Amino acid sequence: MRVALLSGGSGGAKLARGLLDVVGAEGLTVVANTGDDAEVYGVHVSPDPDLVTYWLADAIDERGYGIRGDTWEVMSALKTAGRPTWFRLGDRDLAMCLVRTELLADGRRLTDAHAAVVEGMGVGARVLPMCDEPVRTRIEARGRSLPFQEFMIADRAEGPIEGLEFTGAGSARPTPEVLAAIAEADVVLIGPSNPVISIGPILAVPGMPEALRATSAPVVAMSPFVGGEVVKGPTRLFCDHAGLEPDASAMVGAYGDLLDGVVADEPVDGVPALETDTLMGDPDARRRVAAATVEFAKSLLR
Ligand code: GDP
Repeated sequence: MRVALLSGGSGGAKLARGLLDVVGAEGLTVVANTGDDAEVYGVHVSPDPDLVTYWLADAIDERGYGIRGDTWEVMSALKTAGRPTWFRLGDRDLAMCLVRTELLADGRRLTDAHAAVVEGMGVGARVLPMCDEPVRTRIEARGRSLPFQEFMIADRAEGPIEGLEFTGAGSARPTPEVLAAIAEADVVLIGPSNPVISIGPILAVPGMPEALRATSAPVVAMSPFVGGEVVKGPTRLFCDHAGLEPDASAMVGAYGDLLDGVVADEPVDGVPALETDTLMGDPDARRRVAAATVEFAKSLLR
């Protein structure tokens, strides 16, 4: 059984971890958003691919980002040196960014550079950046245009959002690895990630929607709304900007004809739907939700 999962960093990453139990490392390929990537402290930070990787390695910290039990010596030293440290990177997290940055400096593709991080974390599944070209999400709010991380962390995600741009997306292409994963999958899933800023940049890469339409695998999205609420993060803020209600039906509308089915904890009309509790708060729940989603997707015909 081969599953390709499109994912942001947290909701999608939890589903990825559940899928690892259900289809095994051999069967799982995650295509992760790189719109949140940034250059900080001289390294290439890739938040969503790293979050997915740390989840798959059972190394994610309870904070929801970074590596469990990490230390902060580099941040302390930078602070002592009078440097800004608003972007918090633990020492081991920074080491993984160094692995990636070194390979990029050697002229390697982002796909290969992140594969070294995946291997370094002992993960057997594939975690693929959506593309090799730089795509950067920029947010316009309160009269300013900011890189995504600066808006989220330094500006504390203060809305309302006035505009959104995925710079570089127009000239990016899905990598051969991404195209192969989607074409050869038995099931393609869109994780319960923010549809606007996590899945949005992935679908903004020309060739990606076409690949999803062309695959013979059913394409199923999971709603990121649980009990009508966002579990964590700024999904609501961005849905408000995109004119999307915070519910599964609006998400289905946003993904349009890409979907063959949807998984949500609320009724959805107009597309085959599996209604089930989608909260993935512990390993059992992640496994149950992942197994039910794969079974449902397999039952759908294209
Ligand atoms: P980010 O890149 O870290 O913002 O993460 P994502 O975009 O991948 O995920 C954010 C979304 O995940 C939020 O809208 C949450 O509601 C959703 N989410 C988090 N945990 C769960 C869960 O257990 N179940 C479901 N269905 N959604 C979740």
